[in-house]
Amino acid sequence: MKAIEAFYPLLRTPKKIIITTHQKPDGDAMGSALGLYHFLVKTGHDVTVITPTNWADFLDWMPDADKVIDFEAKKDAALVLIQSAEILFCLDFNVLHRTKHLEKHLEAAEGIKVLIDHHEQPQESAFQFGISNTAKSSTCEMVYDFIMQSERPELLDVTIATCLYTGTMTDTGSFRFPATSASVHRMVAHFKDLGLQHTPIHDNIYDSFLENRLRFIGNALLNRMEVLYEYNTAVMSIPRADIIQYDIKTGDTEGLVNYLLTIKGIKFGAIVIDRNEERKWSFRSKGDFDVNIFARNHFEGGGHKNAAGGRSSDTLEKTLEHFYNVIPAYKGALQ
Ligand code: 5GP
Ligand code: MN
Repeated sequence: MKAIEAFYPLLRTPKKIIITTHQKPDGDAMGSALGLYHFLVKTGHDVTVITPTNWADFLDWMPDADKVIDFEAKKDAALVLIQSAEILFCLDFNVLHRTKHLEKHLEAAEGIKVLIDHHEQPQESAFQFGISNTAKSSTCEMVYDFIMQSERPELLDVTIATCLYTGTMTDTGSFRFPATSASVHRMVAHFKDLGLQHTPIHDNIYDSFLENRLRFIGNALLNRMEVLYEYNTAVMSIPRADIIQYDIKTGDTEGLVNYLLTIKGIKFGAIVIDRNEERKWSFRSKGDFDVNIFARNHFEGGGHKNAAGGRSSDTLEKTLEHFYNVIPAYKGALQ
């Protein structure tokens, strides 16, 4: 993977460009993809955002989200674009399998693959150019840097800023996680100077619940949570029946894991959800406990030191049992 500086000259002439991101794209994935999309369109390129799957309804308001192609919904159209793309930007993931059924098509694509991402341990051989920086708050912040260091930084506008603010806000827990550097705040100041309206963004993302989602959370906190004080750990498991009863859709479980860390003294929060095709884990920690390593060691996952995910093909009961079996080995690290 070559440094991004050598890539910029390729943007001097119009190109066919695809931007893609991880499955079930979150605020940072959608924000960085759409922010870069608006910048590249202004630069004169033919650009399409293709996501491996659908996304949460609370991201639908984002500028031009209606033009994004969901690979699972429009496979044929997406494949034509992927096969003819001269450049493929890969944002907010660093291993191709995070794109689910898109993986083999990205692997086969002949265009130049460019990585922009902030997760641990990138699959460097999969990308020709790229930036991988785990110190960055979000991929949105990295797209901002990419634009500011490009040959056309003056093209940054309030639409791009709106997209990039969204993902920075969601990935930093509204500007509270340790990666929220002075540069992040300077970037937000720049966005405000461009005319960014930040309050509607917050309302769209965080104050747009339907009643069922709040009742689902209430039930999960009351009936699905175990607190393991011995290990400063809280764990929650969500059975399929809850997903059906409360009519839970993509994105409705986002943020649930964070409640576990609001208990005084809890350093490790883990939630496993029984999805149709697999059991999906979300891990969060405070301080030095490294959930990226935990996820890699036990649940085929990864991510960041304080936020990671994983999966299992076992039943929900077996997956949870495995968690209970491995957690004693971390007693020292969790004290
Ligand atoms: P979340 O719990 O919000 O789904 O994910 C937390 C972080 O871990 C995100 O940055 C996400 O991209 C990453 N992540 C989630 N699941 C996986 C996984 O299965 N593998 C890897 N490598 N990263 C994951
Ligand atoms: Mn991210």
